[in-house]
This record gives sequence, structure tokens and C-alpha cells, in this order.
Amino acid sequence: MHIAEMLDRGRPTVSFEFMAPRDENEVQVLEKTVAALAGHAPDWVSVTYRLRTGQETLELVTRIKRQYHIEAMAHLTCANTRDATRRILNWMEREGIANVLALRGDPPGPGQPFQPADAGLTHGSDLVAFVRGNGYRLGIGAACSAEKHPESPDLEHEFHYMRLKVEAGADFLITQLFFDNRFYFALVARARTAGIKVPIVPGLMPLPSRRSLAFVTEMSGASVPEPLQRAIDAQPDDEGIRKLGVEHCIRQCVELLEAGVPGLHFYTFNRARAPIEILGALRGQQLLAS
Ligand code: FAD
Repeated sequence: MHIAEMLDRGRPTVSFEFMAPRDENEVQVLEKTVAALAGHAPDWVSVTYRLRTGQETLELVTRIKRQYHIEAMAHLTCANTRDATRRILNWMEREGIANVLALRGDPPGPGQPFQPADAGLTHGSDLVAFVRGNGYRLGIGAACSAEKHPESPDLEHEFHYMRLKVEAGADFLITQLFFDNRFYFALVARARTAGIKVPIVPGLMPLPSRRSLAFVTEMSGASVPEPLQRAIDAQPDDEGIRKLGVEHCIRQCVELLEAGVPGLHFYTFNRARAPIEILGALRGQQLLAS
């Protein structure tokens, strides 16, 4: 089923993002996480894409669909040539994948340039246009940023390219993570004023470890509000940060649900505990269907 249809049902969807495993250890952690979270009734899930682990992404997505009967979306980036991209998209359609998240892809590291594999596929909007223009029946999602992307001079640029993705055929958007809902509300208000009607799903990340947090904020451009940063600094260990992150994310989700968001998309870092605690709290408050 197309994810855009689910987002249009008038009841917020719950989705989890998994990272494709890089080695055997990660495979085992991920297996447990998927099994644990599948029991918490997500409407759909997605699996990240990296050139090195691209095959794992595709295999995992099909396996989740078959084993758990959950709609699973594959991410795809501009890391491949157009021919290779066509082969991957053909494979997805053949295997019954219904949705793709069309992205440019992360650069190799903070401050480093992204190297596209094909001059015709250099940005998220190019990949959206490629999928749409080649007649694939896949539902197409794309990324957007509630805060300034690290490579953008300003939010104006971000907004311009977000609109380009929708004009190219994206039927829903997922935001980069943010810790302050005001950025999300401002983005949605601006999009609606500009006539952009597609669902914009907030992407939420329960705080990871101190080290991972520094990395993801640098890569994503997400800012940490002052009071939250002070509370993080006061924690003695990563478990304290984890608990704080769960509480903060619950507060974010309550406000977002009350504002009528189309869904909540959780960046899980392949860990089940925080999302389970967050969903438990939201369902306990009857903010989400059980
Ligand atoms: P783009 O839209 O191409 O934007 C990248 C930069 O270029 C921005 O600064 C933008 O303003 C600018 N830009 C956009 N279009 C143009 C244009 N036509 N001309 C000039 N400048 C332009 N990364 C992965 O590698 N694998 C994943 O699986 C993955 N999953 C993600 C899932 C979600 C929900 C999100 C939000 C991000 C994900 N990322 C993933 C990270 C993403 O690839 C990076 O955030 C990347 O920097 C931006 O991707 P994009 O598709 O928005 O790129």
C-alpha cells in the first residue's frame, strides 16, 4: 500500500526507521529490534540505504514485509548511476515493494562533499523525478529539513528545494530530526501557505548516547534547545541521557499529536527500548490507537 494513502486516513501513523546492518553483530541487534517493534503495531517501517549495504536494505525490506506483514519502505540515494538505479527500482517493483524514500544521501562525513555517481542524479529532487519520470508505480517519499541543512546557506534554499521535490512527484515528506517542535510547525505553516499540500511527517529521534548525539546533530543540522542541552550535560551517564530523551520525545509527540500531525516517524538507531516506552506513554494517554 502507498504510504501517502495511510497518511491520508485521518489517524496518525506510527513508523520506525531501521539502519541497514553493516556486519554480523549489527544483524543480530537489528533482528531483535525489528521483532520487538513489530509487536507494537507500526503502520509502516523504513530501512536506510548506503552504497556498501544496499543489498541488505533491499533484502531486509522484503523480509519485513513477508515475515511481519508490515509495509516496509526502502530508502534509496544518489549513490548509484542511472542504470544501476533503474535495476534497483525494477527489483523493488518485482519484489512487491510499494514505496521508496528518494534521497541524495549523506556525505562521507561532516563538512565533506557528497559525490554523486551520475551527473544526472545529484540531488534528492533528481531521484524523485527519475522514479516518477520512468513510470514506476512506487509511492515516493522525500526528505526535508525543519532547520537549516548543514550545506544550505539558509532556510530559503531548503524550502525552495523541498518544493522542487514535491513538484517532481514526491507524495509525502519526512523531516530531518528536530528537538524543538516550533521548527516543524513553522515549516508546515510555510508549506501550506505556499500551496504545498503533501503530508509532512515529523522525524523524531529519542536521544542516543552523548557521542552519537554530537555526530547526528552535526550531520543533520538539528539544534539542541538550551534547557535540554543543560539537562543532558547534567546527566552522569548515557542511561540518564536515554531517560531524559524519552521524556523529551514524549513531550514533543504529545504536542505534535494534539496539533494533528499525519504521523510520527521514529529514528530508532536500531534500538527498541526508547520507542516502546514512548509509544506506551502515548497510548496510555489515548493519544494513539493501541
Ligand atoms: P537534497 O535535497 O539533495 O539536499 C542536499 C543539499 O543540497 C541541501 O543543502 C539542499 O538545500 C541542496 N539542494 C537540494 N537540491 C538542490 C539543487 N537542485 N541544486 C542545488 N542544491 C540543492 N542518508 C543516507 O545516506 N541514507 C539514508 O537511508 C538516509 N535516510 C534518511 C531519511 C530521512 C527521513 C532523512 C530526513 C534523511 C536521510 N538521510 C539518509 C540523510 C540525507 O541523505 C541527508 O540529510 C542529505 O544531506 C540530504 O538529503 P536530501 O535528499 O534532502 O538531499
